[in-house]
Amino acid sequence: MRRIILTTLTIRLWLVGFAYFVLAALTVSFTRFDGGAAFIWLSSGLLLAQLSLLPIRKWGAAFLPAAIAILVMVSCFGLGIRAAPTIMVANLMDPLIAALGIRWACGMGLRIDTVRAIVVFLLSAGVAGPALSALAGAAAISHFTGGGFWTNCFTWFAAHGLGTTLFTPLMFVALSGDAKHWRTEARSSSLVTTLALSLVALVAAVVFRQSALPILFVPFLPMTLATILCGRVGAIGSCVIVAIIGGLYTVHGLGPVNLVHASVGLRALFLQAYIGCSALLVLPIAALLRQHRDLTDRVGESEARYRAMAESLGDGIVDVAVGGTIRYASPAVAQIVGIAPEELIGRSARTLVLEDDLPNLWLAYEQAMASPGRAIRAQYRGPDLASIRWYETMLRTVQAPTGTQLGVVGSIRDITERKEAELRLSTAARTDVLTGIANRRAFEDIMEQRLGQLAMSPCEASLALFDLDHFKAINDTYGHAAGDRVLQTVAQAARAQLREDDIIARVGGEEFAVLFWDLDKDRAAIAANRLRAAISSLAISVPGKGSLNITASMGLAEVRAGEELSQLWHRSDIAMYEAKHGGRNCMRVAA
Ligand code: GH3
Ligand code: MG
Ligand code: MG
Repeated sequence: MRRIILTTLTIRLWLVGFAYFVLAALTVSFTRFDGGAAFIWLSSGLLLAQLSLLPIRKWGAAFLPAAIAILVMVSCFGLGIRAAPTIMVANLMDPLIAALGIRWACGMGLRIDTVRAIVVFLLSAGVAGPALSALAGAAAISHFTGGGFWTNCFTWFAAHGLGTTLFTPLMFVALSGDAKHWRTEARSSSLVTTLALSLVALVAAVVFRQSALPILFVPFLPMTLATILCGRVGAIGSCVIVAIIGGLYTVHGLGPVNLVHASVGLRALFLQAYIGCSALLVLPIAALLRQHRDLTDRVGESEARYRAMAESLGDGIVDVAVGGTIRYASPAVAQIVGIAPEELIGRSARTLVLEDDLPNLWLAYEQAMASPGRAIRAQYRGPDLASIRWYETMLRTVQAPTGTQLGVVGSIRDITERKEAELRLSTAARTDVLTGIANRRAFEDIMEQRLGQLAMSPCEASLALFDLDHFKAINDTYGHAAGDRVLQTVAQAARAQLREDDIIARVGGEEFAVLFWDLDKDRAAIAANRLRAAISSLAISVPGKGSLNITASMGLAEVRAGEELSQLWHRSDIAMYEAKHGGRNCMRVAA
C-alpha cells in the first residue's frame, strides 16, 4: 500500500516536473523579448504550489524533476548548457524561499485567508524569493549574454515576483484537488458559473481586441460580478480568463496594453501587473464572501441545533422580545398552555399570565434583564380563572454579542399538581386534625402577619385565650372519645360566634385562642364574654351517654402597638389563669 502511494506520488512529481518544463520552455521561447531574462515566469508558481502540499522531507523529490527540467530547458531553448547549472540554481531559489516562508506562516497547504498569511505569502513569494533568485539569475544571464546586470535583474525579479504571486494560487487549486471543494462552496449552479465566466471572457475579448481606448478597468465589472455570484471559483476563473485572453491579444500587438510606449518586455510586465491588481481586487471579495457564508452557515447550524433542543424538551420554551412580544414558542408550549405556537407568535406574553401574578413575573423579568447569564425562577398562574393552572418559568436574558439585550428566553413547566400537593400539605400542617380549625403554628404565623399589618395601618384588636374547665373529668367520666366530641363541638360553636376577620385556633389540648380583629377593647370584651356564654350553654350530646355541658375560663388582652406576640400571649395567659382562680366559667381582661 505504502509502495503504491509512493509510486503515485513519484509519478505525480515527475508529471509536475514535465509541466514545469513546458511552462518554462513556453515562457522562455515567447517572452525573452530582448534576449535577456524571460518577461513572464509561471514555472516557480507551479513548483511552489507543489512544495506547499508536501512535507519538507519530500521537497527533494519535487526539486529533482524541476532541476532536470530547467537544465534541459536552458540547454535547448535558453542560454545553453554552460549557463544551465547557474540558471537552474537561481530558478529553484525563489520557490524554495517562498515555500519556507509559507510553511512557517501557514503550515501545510496554501491557506492564504488571513492578513498574516497574505503578507507572508506576498513578501516571500513576491519579494524575497524573486529578489535573491534575480541576483543569481541576472548575474548568469549578464555573464553569458553580456546584457546589463540591473536590467536583467529587474526583468527577472518582476517576472518571477508577479508570475509566482499570481499563479501559485491557481496552480494550488489545480494540484490540491481543491477545485471541486471550491466549486461546491460557490453554491451557484454550473449554468450561472458558465454564464458569469463567459461574460468575463466576452468583455475581456472586447477590451483586448481594440487598441484605441485605455479601458482596462472595464473587465473589473464582470470579474466582480462573477466573484459575487460564484465565490473563489468566479474570482480565480475570471483572473485566468483575463490573463489568457489579455495575454494572447497583447502578444499579437492588440489591446490597451500596447498603448504603453515601452519595450515588449515592459508591456508584458505591465500586463502581469494588471492581472495581479485584478486578482488583488477580486480575491479579497471572494474571501469576504466565504467568511460571510461560513458565518451564515454557523448561525444557521446553531439555530437549528437550539431549535432541535427546544423542540425535544418536555418543558415549553418561549422567546420574548424586549417589548414583551412572543417571537418563538416551542411545540411543547401547545400541550402546556393549550395554544398552538403559531398563534402565540406576535402575542404579548402578558396574555398568558393571571393579572394578579403579573407584578411578580415582571419583577423576575427585571431581575433577569439586570443579571444576564443568570436564570431567574418565578411561579405564576394562567389567566383562565375557571381552571387555575400553576406554571413555573426560568427566565434568562438573550444578549447580542455587542451586549444589547434582545429579550428573554423562558422555559414553561406546568406545576399545578405539585402546587396542589404543596397546598394540601401546608393546609394539613396548619390545621388541627381533630377540630378542623387552625393549629397553634398556623395561628402564630397569622398573628405575626396581623401584627405586622397593624404597624402599617393601625386598628384595634384583642387576643383571647380560653381553656375548658375540668376537662380531665370529662375524659375520666365519659371516656376520651366523649372528650374529643366536646372539643369538636366547642370549636364549631366558637367559630360560628366569630366574624370572618376573626381567627380561632386550638393551641393546646383543651385550650383555644381567638383574635378579635378591628374591634375596640370594650366590644372585644363583650364579644369574648358572649363566646364564653355560648360555650357554657352548649348541650353536647355524647352517643350513649346523654348530653353534657362544659364551661371555659377566658383571658383577654388588648393588642398594644409595637408589642411582641410573646408578650401579648403572656398577658392573655395571666388573665386566663386569673379567670380560673376567680372560679372558672368567667372572663378576665389583662391590665
Ligand atoms: P382545669 O379546669 O384546671 O383546666 O382542669 P382540666 O382538667 O381541664 O385541666 P388538666 O390540664 O388537668 O387536664 C386537661 C386534659 O385534657 C388532660 C388531657 O388528657 C386532656 N386532653 C388533652 N388533649 C386532648 C384530646 O385531644 N382529646 C381528649 N379527649 N382529651 C384531651
Ligand atoms: Mg382545662
Ligand atoms: Mg389546660
